[in-house]
Order: sequence, then C-alpha cells, then structure tokens
Amino acid sequence: MTEVLKTLILGSGPAGYTAAIYAARANLEPVVLAGNQPGGQLTITSDVENYPGFPEGVMGPEMMEMFRKQAERFGTKVFFEMAEKVDFSQRPFKVWSNADKVYEAETIIIATGASALYLGLENEQKLQGRGVSACATCDGFFFRGKKVYVVGGGDSACEEATFLTKFASEVHLLVRRDVMRASKIMQERALNHEKVTVHWNTAVVDVLDVEAGKVTALRLQDTQTGEERVEEADGLFLAIGHKPNTDLFQGQLPMDDVGYLITHAGKTATDIPGVFVCGDAQDSYYRQAITAAGTGCMAAIEAERWLEAQHG
Ligand code: NDP
Repeated sequence: MTEVLKTLILGSGPAGYTAAIYAARANLEPVVLAGNQPGGQLTITSDVENYPGFPEGVMGPEMMEMFRKQAERFGTKVFFEMAEKVDFSQRPFKVWSNADKVYEAETIIIATGASALYLGLENEQKLQGRGVSACATCDGFFFRGKKVYVVGGGDSACEEATFLTKFASEVHLLVRRDVMRASKIMQERALNHEKVTVHWNTAVVDVLDVEAGKVTALRLQDTQTGEERVEEADGLFLAIGHKPNTDLFQGQLPMDDVGYLITHAGKTATDIPGVFVCGDAQDSYYRQAITAAGTGCMAAIEAERWLEAQHG
C-alpha cells in the first residue's frame, strides 16, 4: 500500500523550499519533488543582491543549496524527480513522477515557478547555449568584446542590456514597438549607455546560422514596413517575459489566460481544499525570491491549519 504523505511539495525554488522548512518544522514530514530545474530560476543567476540577510550578496546556486540543506535539516525528503501528471479530483491527491512513482498526499503545495519565454524560432532552439541565451547574468561573461542583441522592451530587457555592457563591445536592444514598457529609470540607464543602441520597431525573424554551429547573424524585420535585413551578431539574449510552469494543472485548477494559478485573495489556498499554490506559479506581479519564499511560508502554514481542521 502506498504511504499517504501529509504534504507533497512540487518545486524546489525559494517558494518550495521555504514551504518545506515550515512544513517540516510543523511535523508534516514533507516530500519535495525538485522538478526539472532543481533550485529553480536562481540557479541560473549569479549574484543575488536583494535577498535580505546577505549584506555582501550571495551567488544564486549557493543560496539554493542553503535553502535545500535547511529544509533537509528538519527532515524534508527531496527527490530529484518531476511531477508529470496529477489527479486532484479526489483525496488523497495523486501525483505521478517521471521516475515511474505515484505519490499520494493529503495536501499539495504547488511551487513550480516560471520559465523564461523564447521567440519560438526553430534555429533559436538549435543554437541555445551556442549564442542564444535567456539569462544575461548567467552567460554574459562569455561575450567579452562581442556584439550582442537583446530582445524585449521591459525592465528585464533594460537590465540585461545594461548588464551586458560589462562584457560586450556593442549591445543592441531590439524593441518590437516604438515605445518600451520598462520603467523610466531602467530605460534611461540602458539607453544612456554609450555601448547600447536601440532599434525600435524591430523583430528577430531568424537566427543564423546553424551550419556554423553558433550564432553569427540575425535576420531582423522592421515591424512597420516588413522590410528585412541581416546583421552580424555573436549573441542573442531573450528578455521577453516568463511563463508559469503550470501546464500540468490544466483542467484541474483555475488559472488565468496566461496560466498563472488563481488563489483566494490574500491566501495560497485554491478552489480545491488541500491544494495550495505559492511563488511564481501564482505571481505575475512581484516575481521575487523573497516574495516567493514569503508565499511558501504562507502555503505551509495554511496546509498545517487545514490538516488540523480535518483531523481535529
Ligand atoms: P514584461 O512582460 O514586462 O516585458 C516583456 C517585453 O518583451 C515587452 O516589452 C514585450 O513587448 C516584449 N515581447 C514580448 N514578446 C515578444 C516577442 N515575441 N518579440 C519581441 N518582443 C516581445 O517582462 P519583463 O521580464 O521585462 O518584466 C516582468 C516583471 O518583472 C515586470 O513587472 C518588471 O517590472 C519586473 N522586473 C523588474 C526589475 C527591476 O525592477 N529591477 C528587473 C526585471 C523585471 P510589448 O511591450 O510590445 O508587449
């Protein structure tokens, strides 16, 4: 017979591990399925300078190691597996993992986070890690003295473009409209930098070239005239937003039209009693490690109180 867990946590970013720390200390004996990116998005960043308690900053991967160790110290079991299918239609809830295991749990805490969006071009996928990246802080270092392009018009694009000036000789920012949605201060910081050139009304329609095995050029299109041109390039950085990792919950839990899971106001509880959501899977607005950790704590406390109410 399968053991029914008190709580199963899906995801191992700041939200998942914080939920685990609190759940473990409340004797819920949590199991964490770490997912396909153990440690979450912070494992592909370098310095984290805005997480309180680290006055000198901390490296993202190192911080997530600390989160994991702290969760394990109180008895959390972490499995490096990915949830592939869920059934929340009856209790105990069921989760199938890619290790051919089936978990049953009285409560589920979803902390599956979000992932960077890509343009969806065929060559973009083929040249990932060969000049195409969605993380300047991870890969910028490899573009010393190179000519790089950043796609996007939000705060991320400005931040990445500014960051890349530390390494690249030229940074070109491609904005598909004639305005950017980034905050004024972030725009100014990027646009006033001598290494940054903005190309308004410009989209990437192809990444060249797969034959060379690395990015050598981009085919760009004027979004107003449709005119195309090819520009030499060593790197392409995508900064066009993120998508919550919630496909798994389609048809099981309410989500908005982008896929963010919907929780009750001011809570992590969902329409299914016993299922809680924290972190970026339900937050399109703040998307910070500290807010993810905060909602992870909320989810564990809510799960604990919900179980207490069930069992009396
Ligand atoms: P946003 O959703 O804010 O911006 C995405 C940008 O990408 C938009 O300019 C959008 O263009 C563009 N875009 C989307 N799809 C495409 C496409 N297919 N081709 C070309 N361009 C495309 O995402 P961000 O990641 O920038 O920011 C997300 C949130 O995080 C925001 O709230 C932001 O303020 C915050 N943030 C804050 C930072 C800070 O304060 N230090 C740093 C980074 C992020 P369009 O405008 O035309 O839709």
